[in-house]
Amino acid sequence: MGKNKNSLPKAAIVTGGSRGIGKAISLKLAEKGFLVYFSYVSRDDLAEEVVSEIQSRGGEARAFKVDVSKKEEVEDFFKNYIKNKVSLDVLVNNAGITNDGLILRMKDDQWNKVIGVNLTGTFYCTQEAAKIMVRQRYGRIINITSVVALSGNPGQANYCASKAGIIGLTKAVALELAPRGILVNAIAPGFITTEMTKELDQKTREAYLSKIPLKRFGTPEDVACLVAWLSSEEASYITGQVFSVNGGLYL
Ligand code: NAP
Repeated sequence: MGKNKNSLPKAAIVTGGSRGIGKAISLKLAEKGFLVYFSYVSRDDLAEEVVSEIQSRGGEARAFKVDVSKKEEVEDFFKNYIKNKVSLDVLVNNAGITNDGLILRMKDDQWNKVIGVNLTGTFYCTQEAAKIMVRQRYGRIINITSVVALSGNPGQANYCASKAGIIGLTKAVALELAPRGILVNAIAPGFITTEMTKELDQKTREAYLSKIPLKRFGTPEDVACLVAWLSSEEASYITGQVFSVNGGLYL
């Protein structure tokens, strides 16, 4: 495991690392030598499996039950496990949920939950990480947005708004933190095969597939590889960007 100048272990935080894209990112960053701390909210069993898988491959990881939409939980996590304990080199804001509905029927609760986890959660974690990274004068923040932030998608006004908000947040924070050596970028995945997308019926899946020039859905690893590269020294002149990982899909 890598250590930095002050001999603290080089850590990466991945929110929502217990399954799907976040799991693939956690595995990949552990493989690259980061001590991986990932969060989740409900599936203790899956979180434990991810930790074991990383350990069995020779990496190090810990899982934390932290709801990113709850400011106090996020603050406590950073205070108790991150500040002065590790060198926080990478934050990946990946945790995300959907709660679809047409605009005429969307309830406040549906709207607030999705914005709360996806956008406000990204804000809370970014703010806590930035406090530490500014002192280190080093850090990488990678935010997972979505192709639908750029295109829109019927029935997902809340989700699209949260993901478009993440793009604005990414660009603003990239400008604020560039002088401190902190790079902030976003990744906009297209259709990636995970639990989030497995609910879609066959007809919708086929309709998406017909629009993807590369003629396949993406894998969580397709996204994880870009996260790993953005976390590496090779990406040291890149900030404020949004990278699409979508097989050429534009809805
Ligand atoms: P997923 O399979 O549904 O996994 C979501 C992860 O987030 C789980 O680890 C879950 O933990 C965690 N999580 C949910 N709410 C949380 C909260 N409040 N606090 C902390 N962690 C929380 O999702 P995915 O498909 O991998 O998506 C990952 C990210 O990519 C999301 O931001 C999503 O919007 C984005 N994205 C996905 C696709 C796609 O096609 N799949 C496309 C574009 C963008 P538990 O296991 O404990 O519930």
